Amino acid sequence: MFATLSDRLADTFKNLRGKGKLSEADIDATAREIRIALLEADVALPVVKEFVGAVKERARSEEVSGALNPAQMIIKIVHEELVTILGGETRRLRYAKSGPTVIMLAGLQGAGKTTLAAKLALWLKDQDKTPMLVAADLQRPNAVQQLQVNGERVGVPVFAPEPGNGTGNPVEVARASIEEARRKLHDVVIIDTAGRLGVDETLMQQAADIRDAVQPDEVLFVVDAMIGQDAVVTAQAFLDGVGYDGVVLTKLDGDARGGAALSIRSITGKPVMFASSGEKMTDFDLFHPDRMASRILDMGDMLTLIEQAEKAFDSEQSMRAAEKLATKGGFTLEDFLQQMMQIRKLGSMTKIMGMLPGMGQFRDQLENFDEREIDRIQAIIQSMTPAERDNPKIIDGSRRARIAKGSGRQVSDVNQLVDRFFEARKMMEQMANGGGMPGMPGMPG
Ligand code: GDP
Repeated sequence: MFATLSDRLADTFKNLRGKGKLSEADIDATAREIRIALLEADVALPVVKEFVGAVKERARSEEVSGALNPAQMIIKIVHEELVTILGGETRRLRYAKSGPTVIMLAGLQGAGKTTLAAKLALWLKDQDKTPMLVAADLQRPNAVQQLQVNGERVGVPVFAPEPGNGTGNPVEVARASIEEARRKLHDVVIIDTAGRLGVDETLMQQAADIRDAVQPDEVLFVVDAMIGQDAVVTAQAFLDGVGYDGVVLTKLDGDARGGAALSIRSITGKPVMFASSGEKMTDFDLFHPDRMASRILDMGDMLTLIEQAEKAFDSEQSMRAAEKLATKGGFTLEDFLQQMMQIRKLGSMTKIMGMLPGMGQFRDQLENFDEREIDRIQAIIQSMTPAERDNPKIIDGSRRARIAKGSGRQVSDVNQLVDRFFEARKMMEQMANGGGMPGMPGMPG
């Protein structure tokens, strides 16, 4: 996501390195490069103009404070302006004060609505809500069944018209679903509506009729980010035809440029509320403009990482590990294994690494990272005796041969792991004892 833009901006900032003061020419050149970067990212022209204008204006007028050098100041300005065009504050769902909260989804066919409906339901369930899904897409063959399958995957009931009930009337289905939700005490109702391959009158009218019938608390427009600037055109058409409160971007995982994400808020005036970034039901989250901006600038999405880490980490165990690290030689292979398994819970290694600052330069290696490497390490450690895990120093030649055999690896793999463990432990001990994070990228300057 945003790979091209990140690289481009990084190059722009690099050119400012070592400059003590920004001349008018420097500002012009930087503005030009940012403009090209945004255009290449498929950002809509009016948005590019506004963005570059704002950056230029601020770069000229803002006091160069003692704390920041010119490159850092430009990064700060670009970051803040990115947050602004992405929508500023995170826009959270508004829940109904009484009765079920009604969320209606609208968008083109193939935008990812049905998938999104289930992801949203799962997300709500994780926040102790009791959602119900409603199949009001009676146009596309299989849409009802697809929602039922997805609903089952996330353990959320699906309200659908009785089979054999003719074609059914989506407005009636939607209306009836609210009654059902009241009866069964569901606190959120998610209505999946029909999409067409292109924007058309009938589709818009039907969505508008459903909206009028159920008076949703939130109408969300779902759009495929991979279609780039076309997303903006469709978004405008739906805004005129149906109207909506917020946007959900899907398939962000396949969108290397980010044009839709960067343009849609400015053009429609509606906030992006959620982002969907993969085929898995958990590849979904609130859209945080500030974190997204940091990600684009490749300063790492530390907040997301910390939040995810908090969810997955056993804090007591982490505390114990930290204590052990503070004592020389206290951290064992067993701890290492436990930590690795905790990290595993966060999701794929590639994704986690991608969120760390400065990792942009390793993008190619990350994409080639073999997740099975972790399985191999795990197998090797699990073939060790408790004594060996506790005190890796005792792992001599014959033990290495036995461990290699037990884990189905080569002795050289065992050697490599043990060596790497000692290296990592040394580094972590230094960090735990206040030595600072080695290898953290500094700001350019
Ligand atoms: P609908 O016609 O709007 O209901 O769209 P679907 O939910 O059927 O999705 C269309 C296709 O996009 C399906 O093959 C989904 O698996 C896929 N899809 C949906 N969301 C995402 C996403 O965030 N990332 C990726 N890579 N694929 C997605």
